[in-house]
Amino acid sequence: MDSYTKQMHFFGNTNVEELVSKYGSPLFVYNEDILRRQMRRVAGILPNHRFTANFSIKTNSNLTILKIANEEGLNADAMSPGEIFVLKKAGFPSDRIFYVSNNVSEEEMHYALDEGVMVSVDSLSQLEMFGRIAPGGRLSVRLNPGVGAGHHEKVVTAGKKTKFGIAAQDIPMIHEIAKKYDLHIVGLNQHIGSLFMDFQPYLDACRNFLHYAEDFDELEFLDFGGGFGTPYHKLADEQEFNLEPFKAALDDLLTEWKKTSGKDVLFKMEPGRYIVAEGGVLLGRVHAVKENYGHKYVGTDIGMNVLMRPELYDSWHDVEIYRDGSPVVDGPRDTYSVVGNICESGDIVAKDRDLPVTKEGDVAVVLDAGAYGFSMSSNYNNRLRPAEVLITSSGEDVLIRRRETLEDLLRCFDI
Ligand SMILES: *Cc1c(COP(=O)(O)O)cnc(C)c1O
Repeated sequence: MDSYTKQMHFFGNTNVEELVSKYGSPLFVYNEDILRRQMRRVAGILPNHRFTANFSIKTNSNLTILKIANEEGLNADAMSPGEIFVLKKAGFPSDRIFYVSNNVSEEEMHYALDEGVMVSVDSLSQLEMFGRIAPGGRLSVRLNPGVGAGHHEKVVTAGKKTKFGIAAQDIPMIHEIAKKYDLHIVGLNQHIGSLFMDFQPYLDACRNFLHYAEDFDELEFLDFGGGFGTPYHKLADEQEFNLEPFKAALDDLLTEWKKTSGKDVLFKMEPGRYIVAEGGVLLGRVHAVKENYGHKYVGTDIGMNVLMRPELYDSWHDVEIYRDGSPVVDGPRDTYSVVGNICESGDIVAKDRDLPVTKEGDVAVVLDAGAYGFSMSSNYNNRLRPAEVLITSSGEDVLIRRRETLEDLLRCFDI
């Protein structure tokens, strides 16, 4: 059997060895065709309704990828002034950016308003703040419908135990504060969690949300949130999030709701991972192979500063081993933990995996690294953030972010 990346022709006209020799290691590599495929899928979720897909750019805010998303007609969700800033640089007009704010300062709120960006507030106190800053203004309110879903406690973003959104029982208070400042609540948004493969909880949350929406008279849009899953166990044949039955069920629900409520609003969703995870892989050179007390380790330069998810959420990423530019698929195998170069015992990319017998000089290819990969990277241990390369639709490799240099570590010091 061929490797997944080989089957996908992921590296275009080049190969893993050429990429690492040319751009260094570790290296994020993206495939334009896969990115565009996923963008088109989300853009087409609700063809029978007024609908926009907002790319949640905290997953990946590389400027080139943002420009591709813009070309594909996606709108965007920003979580910070920094994300608004880069979206503008990527060419997104203000009216296609949505700022889903959380515990922001007045200054940050001002920034978004001055940029002409629609803001969602996340608490009654932030609704008050918005009212003080922009009386008479238009905004969205993030509801917490009391139910959540997701692959790990840390990514469940609605429900009775999370910090997000305004609890349903506080809806009367929302109206009170809105009245006090003459605010127009033109949108409602929610986001129940991340990485679900079964759409039923999402659909239930939408139904619930639509029910609350009936209490709001000035609504122009409803945003159901993101969270659509990516099959991270694809080497074990995990199937994709099944969009077609989801689309059909949601279409029915919304058609019915429009009829019964008499409302005609723009529907939005805010997927992130689903758009970019599969379109990115992370390459890392193997520098050491060793055995400690019966456990075998493949020592790479993929530190947790480069890929944080396994450490943060115990996330699974499939790993392929390449040698001299080709995937190693045949021959003897063994069980290894693939680890990085950071001084932390939790610096593990992939634990106890069945892999081909691996040697120094091989390249580990970590799959599905396009979401929450680079965007969560850091300079921990004064390691440098890696470069990012795009394999274009014509198969060419293009550098889309340079690797940091040692000098970059001094950028913020006055020396
Ligand atoms: C993170 C986030 C998203 C995107 O979640 P995915 O699981 O990557 O689709 C969408 N909306 C909000 C408010 C978020 O915080």
